[in-house]
Amino acid sequence: MLTDALVVSKSGAPFKFQKIEVNNNLHDNEVLIRMKATGVCHTDLNFSNETSIPGLFPAVFGHEGAGTIVSIGSSVTTLSIGDNVLTSYTSCGNCSNCDSGNTSFCRDWEHDNFGVGRSDGSKAYSSTSGEAVTSHFFGQSSFARHAVVMERSVIKVPADAPLQLLAPLGCGIMTGAGAMMNVVKPTSNSIVAIVGAGAVGLAAIMALKLNKEQPKMVIAVDLIQARLDMAKKYGATHVINSTEVKDLKAALLELTDGEGVNGSIDCTGRADVVNTLMEATAKRGTVVSVGVGKLDATMSANIFNTVNSGRIYTGCCMGSCYPQEFIPMLAEAWKRGDFPFTELIKTYPAQEMDKAVKAVLDGFVVKAVLTWDTIFVTLLLGIIIPLAVMLGLRRYSTSKSAMAIIVPLYIYPAPGAWDPLLEAISINPSLNFIVVVNPHSGPGAAAVPDANYTREIPRLNSQTNVQTVGYVPTAYTKRDLTLVKHDIRTYSEWRSNSTVPGLGVQGIFFDETPSQYDDTSAYFLLEAQKEARQVHGFTSRCLLINNPGTIPDARFLDGPNMTVVFEGTYDTYQLHGFSHKIEMLGRLQGIKTSRQDFGCIMHSLPKDVAGSEASMKKVVRELTNIAGTVFVTDLWENYYSTFGTCWKQFVELAK
Ligand SMILES: [Zn+2]
Ligand SMILES: [Zn+2]
Repeated sequence: MLTDALVVSKSGAPFKFQKIEVNNNLHDNEVLIRMKATGVCHTDLNFSNETSIPGLFPAVFGHEGAGTIVSIGSSVTTLSIGDNVLTSYTSCGNCSNCDSGNTSFCRDWEHDNFGVGRSDGSKAYSSTSGEAVTSHFFGQSSFARHAVVMERSVIKVPADAPLQLLAPLGCGIMTGAGAMMNVVKPTSNSIVAIVGAGAVGLAAIMALKLNKEQPKMVIAVDLIQARLDMAKKYGATHVINSTEVKDLKAALLELTDGEGVNGSIDCTGRADVVNTLMEATAKRGTVVSVGVGKLDATMSANIFNTVNSGRIYTGCCMGSCYPQEFIPMLAEAWKRGDFPFTELIKTYPAQEMDKAVKAVLDGFVVKAVLTWDTIFVTLLLGIIIPLAVMLGLRRYSTSKSAMAIIVPLYIYPAPGAWDPLLEAISINPSLNFIVVVNPHSGPGAAAVPDANYTREIPRLNSQTNVQTVGYVPTAYTKRDLTLVKHDIRTYSEWRSNSTVPGLGVQGIFFDETPSQYDDTSAYFLLEAQKEARQVHGFTSRCLLINNPGTIPDARFLDGPNMTVVFEGTYDTYQLHGFSHKIEMLGRLQGIKTSRQDFGCIMHSLPKDVAGSEASMKKVVRELTNIAGTVFVTDLWENYYSTFGTCWKQFVELAK
């Protein structure tokens, strides 16, 4: 039968989505699985560049599969057609390690998982022109809509299990959790360290919650601050950003009062890191390697020190567990809310593998999962997959090059108070203004705001180059969602209020939205956005703006038309290499961002900057390079309660 798969034609070639033939004459001990989702692991990417295995290419990789069984071989006893399953590595089932449940240390492991097909050399896939294509990679080759897998590689999960979320359990997540629970096995006196806070490292940290005893200190080490923030969220007590620390050994010894770490997990696969960890390990402590980089990387240890310290260096393959028991345990823990690894996932249609690869390599996405279905659900057991899939990317759609000014207009409209804005609007008809109106930290309790507002807001709305949006606070989604929805409805009803024609606003400015992703916040924002798009009081171009005030988790970018990615002082902007970060975000292929998706609000401009046309020009140019919508003020307090002295000049430069 024909199916779709991601085929790598030769070493270094891209993953190409194409039709292939599945030879579904199953061996007796095999099943045919209709894949729903497949996690993307670094091992897949490494193998796509492999040069030392003859006969490997063309090949289908993929080894974190999840799907439904559609047919079974004659000797299969533990699985039935229709079962929901995850797929993992394979093993021989006859050696001493297989007998004792240590299947990842199977005698034939390398041959059976990294051979060029089944253990007998046959392949289950071929191209439409008849050329054999490597199958059974890692026992499965699951970058395909259909995969032939041995019964031994399959883990049954409940019928209602959300397959696109559980797929990564088959390799990366199991590996991290297993390294912590089965090898490090911390006690309440332990200090543990995790180097590399990607999917494996974060899973190791999350798994502490499932461990009998909690270590007294959990140290996470990574290069990317966002990942260290996640590590903290999931249980790290201390973090080390290795871009800021020259000597990791010294930093670890300092944190541990010179004692060293009792158990550490290296996810980097770098020999220098492993050697450092050995030296920073306490007496009788253990260093566990789970990451593999270069295949010839070699660690070294001084024998005298090793004897005296009793330190242990050990490897851990696939979590050193029995997947048929360990994975269902992790899935149960996830369901209870004790193992939230699905928060690390971003899903991509399998056709967009290139975007998934890029996002993973750039470090924006911790765990990419490919989906093989063409129809997606957005809400599944309270977990949100990217909204872009369903909503389409509704971006703020002024012309490409157009520049807009966003005005947080928190100025009370006493007669004349809004005139500097109204003047700027009328003398610059080709400049777009997005004006945030905010009568009472929201619309206020009354159906319409007071007479000053009902006089001035229609004046703004009468201009064609103005879009007004209503201010709604979210308190980082800690506010009652019912109140948020109530605010949205109040604004939406302004339009139909017959006593004040022209009062209606065109969308909502959600203030204080979170930057860090979690399911609860994502659900809150989705509900608020849905409400705003469903009510009829905004125009068809309903404009929704989120204001995290900083660069948020990329998954939050899909919901609103625009995100304010910076709100802060001039000095803060200079400090943090912000423009570089936003450029990196812009490169995120999976989300397809452009300047028009971002806003920047800068306040507290120093006098010498605001007073110099050249400096002002530089500031405005820098901001407009990264964001299509900007605001700059030289006020140092109550930034938005009056117009700053540089207002006119800013408008002039923004044109
Ligand atoms: Zn893997
Ligand atoms: Zn074996």
